[in-house]
Amino acid sequence: MQSRVALVTGAGSGIGAGIAQELATQGHRVAVLDRTPETATATADQIKASGGTALAVHADVSDPAQVTQAVAEVTASLGPVGILVNNAGFAKDNNVLDMPLDDWDAVVNTHLRGSFLMLKATAPAMRETGWGRIVNISSISALGDDERVNYVAAKSGLEGFTRAAALDLAQHGITVNAVGPGVVHTKMTTVSAARAGRTLEQHLEAQAKTIPVGRIGTPHDIARAVLFFAAEDADFVTGQVIYVSGGPHG
Ligand code: NAD
Repeated sequence: MQSRVALVTGAGSGIGAGIAQELATQGHRVAVLDRTPETATATADQIKASGGTALAVHADVSDPAQVTQAVAEVTASLGPVGILVNNAGFAKDNNVLDMPLDDWDAVVNTHLRGSFLMLKATAPAMRETGWGRIVNISSISALGDDERVNYVAAKSGLEGFTRAAALDLAQHGITVNAVGPGVVHTKMTTVSAARAGRTLEQHLEAQAKTIPVGRIGTPHDIARAVLFFAAEDADFVTGQVIYVSGGPHG
């Protein structure tokens, strides 16, 4: 198993923190990027306490200058990025008729513009070494969901971005794939529960009833799929989306 430098965005919390921890367990040196510095530091400290190598970096992925600065910091401290996981994200749900333009821009800018900027900042070094893995965290919402047109557009856009970038980068030994989680209990589910007017417990119970395997997902479930795409010998799998959601939907 070769040790690579893995950069995970939004790794201060939830799914991203789980992915960062699993990549570190595989022996990779992990850059934990988040726009909330304290949470990035907390995840990096947990990895270090378990014997791994981690660096906390602070950036908003939708800001080009901050992305450039963050990737330069990671490269100087850990080496060039070989594995990029575009996970940073959030939802600002509303009926399309009531959705403010600012909420459209905020969600689309983080998921789509952020993934584009992160790819642009890291892929040239992957091209130089002839090896790279990019994994974008989509959602089953990419298939359609009510009262979140900004989030659905961003996630289905991210899946198109995945397929198109895979074609552009295949010749350089760089794969681009996406993992689409179903419901995973994180800060995001707390926000969805409040919006649905339920307690967190009621919300998780109601959601679990709609999932064929009968339970809510964990960051570990999602990280397993990321590790598959990030593997050294997964070079023949590119431009794909795998839904990790406890059963088929649609
Ligand atoms: P979370 O709120 O626990 O974590 C998201 C992290 O991203 C936070 O630490 C936040 O600070 C960071 N972040 C947000 N915007 C950022 C930006 N512009 N720049 C840098 N960091 C930023 O949420 P989560 O549930 O772990 O979500 C992680 C990803 O998984 C998101 O892309 C989300 O859309 C996706 N997802 C989540 C679920 C779910 O049920 N939780 C389901 C499907 C997809």
